This record gives sequence, structure tokens and C-alpha cells, in this order.
Amino acid sequence: MRQLIPLSVPNFEGNERKYVDDAIAQAWVSTGGAYIEQLERELAAFLHTKQAVAVQSGTAALHLCLIEAGVKAGDLVLVPPLTFIAAVNPIRYQGADPVFIDCDDSLCIDPCKLKAFCERECTLADGALVHRESKRTVRALVVVHVFGNMADMEAIMEIAGAYHLTVIEDATEALGTYYTDGALRGKYAGTIGDYGAFSFNGNKIITTGGGGAVTAAEPRALAHIRYLSTQAKDDAQYYIHHEVGYNYRMTNLQAALGVAQMEELPDFIGRKQKNYDLYARLFSDCNLCRLLPFREKTASNRWFYALEIDRERIQAPMSQMIDALQQQGVQTRAVWGLISDQRPYEHETVYQLERAPYYADCILNIPCSTNITEKEIAYAADTIKQLLRKLADGI
Ligand SMILES: *Cc1c(COP(=O)(O)O)cnc(C)c1O
Repeated sequence: MRQLIPLSVPNFEGNERKYVDDAIAQAWVSTGGAYIEQLERELAAFLHTKQAVAVQSGTAALHLCLIEAGVKAGDLVLVPPLTFIAAVNPIRYQGADPVFIDCDDSLCIDPCKLKAFCERECTLADGALVHRESKRTVRALVVVHVFGNMADMEAIMEIAGAYHLTVIEDATEALGTYYTDGALRGKYAGTIGDYGAFSFNGNKIITTGGGGAVTAAEPRALAHIRYLSTQAKDDAQYYIHHEVGYNYRMTNLQAALGVAQMEELPDFIGRKQKNYDLYARLFSDCNLCRLLPFREKTASNRWFYALEIDRERIQAPMSQMIDALQQQGVQTRAVWGLISDQRPYEHETVYQLERAPYYADCILNIPCSTNITEKEIAYAADTIKQLLRKLADGI
């Protein structure tokens, strides 16, 4: 059998071994060390923001943002339903609950429905947004830039301002995505709202094995997040703590990997874009599927490629397509199941879900590693097109 073309694997073609060896040689492997600070500096410079805090994971980054945003037990937080569950779980860590607002055709939260929910279902009282039916405070909004595609931040920031919502950007999939035009020109995903969360998990555009980072508009908020991430230590010598902290700090070993990956990030983004363009050409003659585009007026990191399958002509279950493609050496994946359908969240409030269930049923993610070759892309596209034709003919 031919070798499998993987969906998404990490790429270590740079100084990864050198820097990790160096961290080990220096015996600085834990939550202190020069690579951590270097990674934070380089990340902040890349994002054109003042500072960043490196942490253990994207999930930890989101949790710290929610804590700092003042999300507490009984609060509500607005979220999109079509994304990875880690965007929502930290809301529960705080004892709060999500409200699921539909996505639009960008797969990100729909600003029109977001506004409609705030306007029709909630009341502004004493500077806080209260959900009329449950009488609970809607404290914040988690915006996910799905697959590296920028959510409509121009509209979202305006709505958040009008309804006093703290904006937490889940930029875990969107490192390097930015506006090229309009009022937010030059602004990067994760640096537009009040807080931004990044992930360096193995499948993201750069990886530290596991890891993440936080950015914040307010330097004091970010300083407090840093403090919370290191067990809220007020005095290192006498072990004095004034708050409950977390063991969320990134290690120097992870950061060594991260510094090497940061050197390659611009090249990785270039490859993602080039490969996306090649797929777009190869799928342009296929009327059974459509490669989803990225938002206009932005340069996306094009982290993940999403193929919309024509469900009127192809009714085969996604699992059948995925298995058939796997047998022919092409690894693909169905998009996430809706979070609002998962057992921990099945009783939570949903608002006007229509596009999210549609896309949950018709999106196939296709191989997108930065080290995929042009030949592999051509083979993957061809294999997928052939299968779709076969399924449409009902053979
Ligand atoms: C990867 C991811 C996370 C979580 O990041 P980890 O580093 O794996 O904890 C959160 N949200 C989304 C949308 C993600 O894709």
C-alpha cells in the first residue's frame, strides 16, 4: 500500500533539536529559563503587541482569560457551537455556562445573530448584560477564528462595546492571521479583543508539543495572568501567596522548541497559502464540492482546509468517505460534532442554530501539513474528486 498522506503533522526542519539540547545541557527544563522569555518576546513582536505570556496549553490560556475577565459561577458566556470543545470547557471550569450562537458562512460566530441575541433576549442593567429568561449575567464572548479564518471582528467589537461584553479571542488556530484592509488593518487575530489565547499543540501551525500563550489589551491584566499562571507567588523566597494560582506556566523545554518554530513560522504560513492555492485550482473544476474561502480584507494563516461536500448529491455518511480515502492513502477528517450536542452541554441554551448544523454535516478536512508535497496534494485532490464522482453516481 502507498504511504498515507497525513491530515496534519508537525514540521521540525529547523533548530528544534539544537535548542532543546541546549535547554537540557543547561538543566533549565522547567518553568523558568531564557527560552520562555525569548519566546514571549518574539511572539509579541510577531503579533505587533506589547507582551505575551507563555503557558501550558491553549486550554490553560483560555481559562486564564476567563478568570481575568471576571467570569464566575452562574455567569453566561456566548460561544460558537462549531469548534473544538476546548473553546468551551474552561467556561465550566469557572462554574459558568455557555450560550451557543450560530456561526455564519465563515464558520465563525455570526455577528447578526450575536446582536439579535443581545438585543432581543437580554437587557442592559447597570452596565451589565442580563439574559432575561434565566436572569443570569452574560459576562463575556469567546470568539473562535475557526481554521485560521478571522471572525468578523469589525462587527463583533462594535456589538461587544454596545452590550458591555468582554471579548476573548480563541486564536488557537489563527496564529499569523491579520487584517490587510479596513479599520482593523494590520491587526492580528488575538490582539483585537480584550484577551487572546494561542495554542502550540502538535496539530497547530507551530508546536511546542503542548503549549499556549495569552495576550491582553491591558498590560496590568496580562501581568496578573502571568502571576496566576505561576501559582500566584507574591514572594518566591518565603512562599507567600495572596490568591489561588495555577501551575499553567510553559516550561523552558517547550519554549526551546517554540523559539525554533517561531523562526520557521513565516515560511510555514507561506507554504499553507501556496498549498491552499494549489488545492483551490485542483478543486475548481469539481461541482460536487467547494474549498471554503478565507475572509476578504485579511491574510489568513490558512491553517486548515475545509471542503464543503454537496449533500444534495452525495448522501453517503462522512465516515464512509473517510474510510474509503484512508484506504487509498489520504487521511481526512470530519469537522467537529456540535458542542451543543455533546453530553456536558446538551441542555444549554442555543440560539438560532442553522448554519452550524449544516456545516457540521458537510465539511471534510483534507491534508494540510506544511511538509506535504505538490505531488501529494495532486494525488489527494484527485482521489477525493474520483470518490465524490463515484458516490454521486451511486455506484
Ligand atoms: C487547539 C484548540 C484549543 C486548545 O488548545 P490546546 O493547546 O490543545 O489546549 C482551543 N480551541 C480551539 C478552537 C482549538 O483548535
